[in-house]
Amino acid sequence: MQQSISTRFPGEVALVGAGPGDPELITRKGWRLLLNADLIVYDALVSAELMAEIPGHIARHYVGKRKGQHSHSQADICRFLVQQARLGKRVVRLKGGDPLIFGRLTEELDALQAAGIPFTLVPGITAASGCAASCGLSLTERGIASSLRFITASHCDQRSVPWADLTRRDETLVFYMGLSQASRISQELQRHGLPADWPVMLIERGTQPDQRSIHTHLAGLPQAVEMHRVQAPALILIGQVARQAQEKAQSQAA
Ligand code: SAH
Repeated sequence: MQQSISTRFPGEVALVGAGPGDPELITRKGWRLLLNADLIVYDALVSAELMAEIPGHIARHYVGKRKGQHSHSQADICRFLVQQARLGKRVVRLKGGDPLIFGRLTEELDALQAAGIPFTLVPGITAASGCAASCGLSLTERGIASSLRFITASHCDQRSVPWADLTRRDETLVFYMGLSQASRISQELQRHGLPADWPVMLIERGTQPDQRSIHTHLAGLPQAVEMHRVQAPALILIGQVARQAQEKAQSQAA
């Protein structure tokens, strides 16, 4: 759906989900827009494999964090998008996974809207779906997981995580940006009633050639993160579907 806010400026911005890393996990629409772009503005979650497949003549601008350097502020990114579109460019703002999920989308949409820049929004495959597929598990499962939660644990205000509300045993929990909060996740969920041996899976760099998945349980989560030196991007998946995946992996290995 194209939302033309104004036709005053010839440029436009497409906010496109890049998917979780595997370059084939981008939508056809997203890929078409990439191929027709004058400029791609991308950040750290967009995989090197996907970037390598984009023809070299298309200009690209990195706005993610680099080690030891400050990241571009969200306000800078918004300004840059508006400025480039005003030059008449077809800009693709490429974001990891699905930009509609923990994607800081609203700030960028608001800036485009305020400046009267036409924009298109193209969803992507979110990390949870990509990771589940590449680990061979279903996020919901008849009888054992009738609902699914995507939770961010990195919120500045820790009180906003509704811990008491996250302890249903027929639910799959997927924590995004949760690595630095692994101890807290482990403690709070146990404190609110989930068992110490409740199944947990860590999935690092899901769908990418160097993907790792680690099975553990709630009580062992902080140690697992530390012992295996799990690095971002990684998901923490909690619930019975993780146990099923573990049993399947064990029976295949046997
Ligand atoms: N919009 C993105 C999420 C952005 S928040 C999406 O829909 O996937 C960033 C967090 O996403 C990371 O800290 C990590 O928890 C998760 N993530 C993104 N890509 C990932 C991947 N390939 N493997 C595991 N986790 C990933």
